[in-house]
Amino acid sequence: MTLERLVPAAALLPEGLAELRAEVRAFLEEQIAAGVFTPGVDTWLTRWNPEFTKALAKRGWLGMTIPVEYGGHGRTFLERFVVTEELLAVGAPVAAQWVADRQAAPSLLKYGTEEQKQRFLPGIAAGEICWAIGMSESESGSDLANVRTKAVAVEGGWKITGTKLWTSGAHLADGFFLLARSSPRDPEHRHDGLSQFIVLLDSPGITIRPIHTMAGEHHFNEVILDDVFVPDELVMGEIGQGWAQVTSELGFERSGPERFMSTFALLAEAIDLIGRGELPRTAETGRIVARLSALHQMSLSVSQVLSRGEKADLAASVVKTLGTRLEGDIVEVVEELSDDRPPTERFGELVRAGLQQRPGFTLRGGTTEILDGVIARGLGMR
Ligand SMILES: Cc1cc2nc3c(=O)[nH]c(=O)nc-3n(C[C@H](O)[C@H](O)[C@H](O)COP(=O)(O)OP(=O)(O)OC[C@H]3O[C@@H](n4cnc5c(N)ncnc54)[C@H](O)[C@@H]3O)c2cc1C
Repeated sequence: MTLERLVPAAALLPEGLAELRAEVRAFLEEQIAAGVFTPGVDTWLTRWNPEFTKALAKRGWLGMTIPVEYGGHGRTFLERFVVTEELLAVGAPVAAQWVADRQAAPSLLKYGTEEQKQRFLPGIAAGEICWAIGMSESESGSDLANVRTKAVAVEGGWKITGTKLWTSGAHLADGFFLLARSSPRDPEHRHDGLSQFIVLLDSPGITIRPIHTMAGEHHFNEVILDDVFVPDELVMGEIGQGWAQVTSELGFERSGPERFMSTFALLAEAIDLIGRGELPRTAETGRIVARLSALHQMSLSVSQVLSRGEKADLAASVVKTLGTRLEGDIVEVVEELSDDRPPTERFGELVRAGLQQRPGFTLRGGTTEILDGVIARGLGMR
């Protein structure tokens, strides 16, 4: 089941993009046929395959929007969007590249020094540098302004102490952008005094502890920093501007197709089975498909706004809150189609993976309640 059959608007693309889509799809079909991967659910978080990531890089499908002088391909956000949708449509194993390509690269381009861009961007485009997100802590997931990790200025750099939580992929990543408090908290101006640092995860003083999910999988971690030295050249952006920078990073984190396509492979499989008469047709499945089409258009629009360097926080929050609800609803609706007897083993596996991953969809990257608040404020309702 191709994306355009479920989302006809995906076929309405400017010249050249349909060819790109077909090229990516043909490559992915070859990889599936060769047994490199089997389509899965939520694979952008859970399935690391560095070789596959490097194979994508060789084809020029990583670092697509990074300028050529930094090892990228100088292509458009729209081209990247098409590649991203195709990777998600088959649930390819893309976790190794995801954070680096989605948000580390654009953040470095926006806030990084020339030296940082030259040091990290070529490796990201080559699929050789993996990145994680160092925002959440135990008492500050939703309320990031409350982070307790402290950065203290020392000769030549900063010493950082604190604990980051739920850090996906930290055990496999090369580094993360860490959000820390670099000057004391001012209750009147809670968002001031925060800064971002580029922390290499093999630095002395870092301990990475696994957190296993109830299903026994390991993708989360607790990252403990004990007096970790970060040289001045690895300060990200400006000291004290961490809040503005993180908010801008979240624009990239919240609006992409992975916020409504994490369970696409399951839906596609279900629609195929419905077509063959092995699952019943329901109006609810039709509604799901309609919502998917709307989200494709919304996410595409945000991608175009971000490509102009404009802010899209509000629109990105709308995509995320509607999209992640849809991802969970897909699991629920599709699971109910089959009673307790899945028509195929593959369908059963995709449903199981969907049920396991579902609770995280509306939490990661900002919870639904928080995003609803962001949207209300953005609309002037608060
Ligand atoms: C799969 C997954 C991957 C993740 N990966 C990363 C990662 O790589 N890096 C990283 O930094 N973080 C990561 N996170 C953490 C994620 O960003 C946080 O879980 C999320 O921001 C919520 O924070 P919390 O868990 O501390 O919940 P809390 O902030 O404690 O919230 C608990 C509940 O209270 C509600 N709530 C809180 N405040 C309010 C309010 N003001 N109004 C209304 N309701 C409120 C929330 O909506 C939520 O339902 C990941 C989380 C998941 C599930």
